[in-house]
This record gives sequence, C-alpha cells and structure tokens, in this order.
Amino acid sequence: MTAYKIAVLPGDGIGPDVTKEAVKVLEVLKKQDPTFDIVFEQFEWGSEYYLAHGHIMPEDGLDQLKNFDAILFGAVGDKRVPDEVTIWELIMPIRKNFQQYVNMRPIKRLAGIESPLKNEQPIDFMVFRENAEGEYSNIGGRLYQQHSQEMAIQNTVITKQGVERIAKYAFEYAQKNNKSKVTSATKSNAIIHSMKLWDEVVELVAKDYGDIELESNFIDALAAYFVLRPESFEVVIASNLFGDILTDLGAALVGGLGVSPSGNINPEGNFPSMFEAIHGSAPDIAGKGIANPIAQIWSAALMLNHLGREDLSTAIVDAIEQVIQEGNVLTPDLGGTSTTQEVGSAIAEKVLKLVEN
Ligand code: NAD
Ligand code: MN
Repeated sequence: MTAYKIAVLPGDGIGPDVTKEAVKVLEVLKKQDPTFDIVFEQFEWGSEYYLAHGHIMPEDGLDQLKNFDAILFGAVGDKRVPDEVTIWELIMPIRKNFQQYVNMRPIKRLAGIESPLKNEQPIDFMVFRENAEGEYSNIGGRLYQQHSQEMAIQNTVITKQGVERIAKYAFEYAQKNNKSKVTSATKSNAIIHSMKLWDEVVELVAKDYGDIELESNFIDALAAYFVLRPESFEVVIASNLFGDILTDLGAALVGGLGVSPSGNINPEGNFPSMFEAIHGSAPDIAGKGIANPIAQIWSAALMLNHLGREDLSTAIVDAIEQVIQEGNVLTPDLGGTSTTQEVGSAIAEKVLKLVEN
C-alpha cells in the first residue's frame, strides 16, 4: 500500500491551530485502519516567511508542491503584510497553476446546528465556484493617482472554456448524485458582456443533461433565495466572486465559517488539489485557542473523498456530527466554551470508535 503524500501549509493566524487538529484526525485514521497510510510534509510559507525572506514562498515553491497527492492549506492573512501578497503570491498561484478550477463548497446543516433561519428544513446543497478566472483577475490598473479624476479599472475574465469546464463538472456531479436541478448565478442583465457569455455557455452545457433542470437566477435575487428557500437548492454554480460571496452567506445559514469546508479541485488529476476551510486567518481570535477546527477537519474529509476514501471521509463527517449533536465539546462560535484542541480531540475519539466498529 502506498501512502498518500500530503503537503501541509498551515499559514497564518488560526490556520496552524485548526490544521493541527485536522492532521490529528488523519493520524488517528492512519493508526487505526491498516488499509490507509498517509504522510505529511509541512511547509511554513505565510506571512512570517514573507517578513523574513521578502517573498511568501520560495521561487521553486510550486515545483516543491506539484508531486504531492493533495495539499491541506490553513489560511493566510496578517495585518503586517498586504492581502495582495498573501492572496496573489500564495493562494492564487497555487489555484491557477495547479488548474484547480473547481472550488467545491458544500453547504450542509449538520444535525445539532442551529440555523439563524427559523425554517427547520434540511439545508444540503453543493456550490461549485469557478476558481481560476472571473472577477479575481489582476488585469487593470489605477489611473490619475492623486487627481480628483482618479480611477481604477479591474477587468473580469470569462472564457468559453472556463465556463464550460465548471458547468460540466457541476452537471456531472448532479447526474452522479441523482440531483434534479442546477442553479446558475448570473447578472447578465447588467454585466452584459462577461455574464452573457457565462449564461450562453451554461445553457449549452445543460442541453447535454436533459433530465437535469437548469435554473438561472440573478445574483442579487439568488442571495435572497438562499435565505428564503435554502432547502430548494441542490447544486449551484457561480463565478469566482459570486461564488465567494454566496458561500459565506451559505455558511452563515449552516453554522458559520467555523464549520464550512472547501476543496480546490483539479479534476484532471495532473496537479494536486487543495483543501481548506473557507474562512481566513481570523486575526480577531488568533492566538486565543478558540477557533473552531471543524471547517478544517471537514476539509480534510473532502480531501479523503477526493483521494478515493469515501468511507473514511464519511466517518469523519459522522464524527463531527456526533460531537455537534452531543453539544458538550464546542467552541464559542457554536455556543460552547471548549478550545480548538478539545474539539479536535473529541472528533478524533469519535472517529476512532467509528472505524473500530
Ligand atoms: P475570516 O474568515 O478570517 O474571519 C471572519 C469572521 O469569522 C471573524 O470574526 C472570525 O473570528 C470568524 N471565524 C473565521 N474562522 C473561524 C473559526 N474557525 N472559528 C471561529 N470563528 C471563525 O475573514 P476576514 O476577517 O475577512 O479576513 C481575515 C484575513 O484572512 C484577511 O487577511 C483575509 O484576506 C484572509 N483570508 C484568507 C483566506 C484564505 O486563506 N483562503 C480566505 C478568506 C480571508
Ligand atoms: Mn471568501
């Protein structure tokens, strides 16, 4: 049996704390399941590294990562370092160079989680956010600085191939998982070039999946529908910016950023995929030991699923759900008084019991 090789990038703020707990849970599985082996290599790239070296990862950083089976990423962001460095010189190069063009973000309310919505309907859908182009482009610039006419132009890049591949991925997922509807987030009424191309390509792809309904909503209305009828969604596709915003909203409906995972997927498998909680480095709670590790542990579960161990992935999510439902080991964001480590250990113990059985 060959071991899965995982690159671990803990990052900044709460990133290292929550990542440590995810690794703890994976180590328990390794110890307990003779058919599962995994090895970790840690890369201390982040804001401290930047402050010491003047760049956030080594020049050959991507080369160092490219042969791993997957990447487990904490979060980056530090007051002393501009966000454009942490985002554009670390996260974006990994996502773009490793062609992780699918950002999968499950929005699923686990048993025991109280939603801020009164509605007690189950919430369980998947958002696929386009992850390689769109509004998150560095094309553009600033003009007439220091003048009253100062302006900034930021271009959105939408390509036919880019929309086609994310849409296909979403429809394939829908088909495999017996879903009946895919919802597309658009704004082609106002953003008439890029979003019209988005719509056209999505409609074209949908034709190949006749049994799956395509629903297209303007992003503003869709944000409202997320709140008004979250139970009606099955699969959602959105551009980079729209997907980013919708999933923080979605996360808020199912317990918040502390319990919301994601995967940056390279569907072709020619480069590693990367798994990370959707939250950032949370400077407001960093160093206090109270960050919720569930989002990152769940992200590790998505990673195992991606690596072909659906059984172990399910065990982790079940363990998380049991700990939440029991309700006595929770971090403050879920109304508890426990620490990051205590929650990680409680989940690790449950995982152990689940794989023993
Ligand atoms: P954030 O996600 O870090 O925090 C938003 C709020 O959610 C904060 O109140 C925080 O305390 C809370 N929160 C987040 N994760 C939590 C957890 N695990 N447990 C409990 N509470 C949690 O977003 P922000 O404050 O807008 O950004 C902070 C920094 O993170 C910025 O530098 C930003 O650029 C960066 N960021 C990085 C990533 C990434 O690494 N992929 C993603 C988003 C933001
Ligand atoms: Mn975000």
